[in-house]
Amino acid sequence: MTATLITNIGELTTNAGSSEDRFGTMIDAAVLIERDRIAWTGATADAPDADEIVDAAGRAVIPGFVDSHSHIIFGGDRAAEFEARMAGQSYAAGGIRSTVAATRAATDEELRTRVRGMVDEMLAQGTTTIEIKSGYGLDVAAEERLVRLAAEVTSEVTFLGAHVVPAEYAGRADEYVDLVTGEMLDACAPHAKWIDVFCETGAFTVEQSRRVLEAGIARGLMPRVHASQLGPGEGVRLAIELGAASVDHGTYLTAPDMEALAASSTVLTLLPGVEFSTRQPYPDARHLIDSGVTVALACDTNPGSSFTSSMPFCIAVAVRDMGMTPAEAIWAATAGGARALRRDDVGVLAPGKRADLVLLDAPTRVHLAYRPGVPLVRQVWKDGVAIR
Ligand SMILES: [Zn+2]
Repeated sequence: MTATLITNIGELTTNAGSSEDRFGTMIDAAVLIERDRIAWTGATADAPDADEIVDAAGRAVIPGFVDSHSHIIFGGDRAAEFEARMAGQSYAAGGIRSTVAATRAATDEELRTRVRGMVDEMLAQGTTTIEIKSGYGLDVAAEERLVRLAAEVTSEVTFLGAHVVPAEYAGRADEYVDLVTGEMLDACAPHAKWIDVFCETGAFTVEQSRRVLEAGIARGLMPRVHASQLGPGEGVRLAIELGAASVDHGTYLTAPDMEALAASSTVLTLLPGVEFSTRQPYPDARHLIDSGVTVALACDTNPGSSFTSSMPFCIAVAVRDMGMTPAEAIWAATAGGARALRRDDVGVLAPGKRADLVLLDAPTRVHLAYRPGVPLVRQVWKDGVAIR
């Protein structure tokens, strides 16, 4: 068996620490990888022998990022819309429809090339687990195609037929929900693990969202919800009531929303790339964490409201503008993302977990926020294989 030892790690973040140090920080550490798993972690001085030695030379190692929210399978882009927004126009959910038209027009090969390119781009930036949503097809065949092609590159596939009401159903949202919960769900459920809905003014009401989620749950999918992105609403409490793994956005949470989240097992996934790209106010992550809410960070990579795929960028913004410490932001982008996907094999570096690691070109994890925009990801291992 080939074993790889990463040695002389200046600062190792395992996320497997005690209650006093949940980040599990180890100094002058080593990690042994066997096949696709972590076999051992400990002090460099105690490290076992291995076939291959990688000398980290005092650099930091963290778990691979777990990005629990992306929309990376689509056609076209919306650079002109972004340019107009930066010139003063506001963001509205309807912009999704222009990507729907471009996605429907794309061939399978064009979509495959796009999604594989995005996955490679994310891996190069340290993201080793990626959730991918459908939602730019919005008819039965187009949605089935998106979840099927997404399943070629990840096991974390989300059926988001209820992303927005397509133009051909304008004024007939309930009829569209009939389609989503009927024929479209039948076609998509075999390729998906998750059911999602955009519960927001301009997208789906709380009653329509409940129908979508309950239909998905009845087909064996697990719920997650987009809510409170553009204003306060009832989506957060619907998500908690239905046992969602995560409710995402939460830009406009009410005090009862926060209390309910803190008392639940539902993760709140914050998406700072969206507030950055739409010039919305940032949620107060400091207050949320201090209130007992479990917070994850994800990029929400999509062509409309957040076309960054960089978790280091989102970490830097979360620290700079949302009040998180660097250690909290990195936990949220790794172990937090894993919880948002109900995964216990990623986001943590401990014996038996997946060997998904990032070697930083920096002595500590703090540099990810301290040096924004600088490419600090030196080496990535996914399932024990060095991919960069
Ligand atoms: Zn989204």
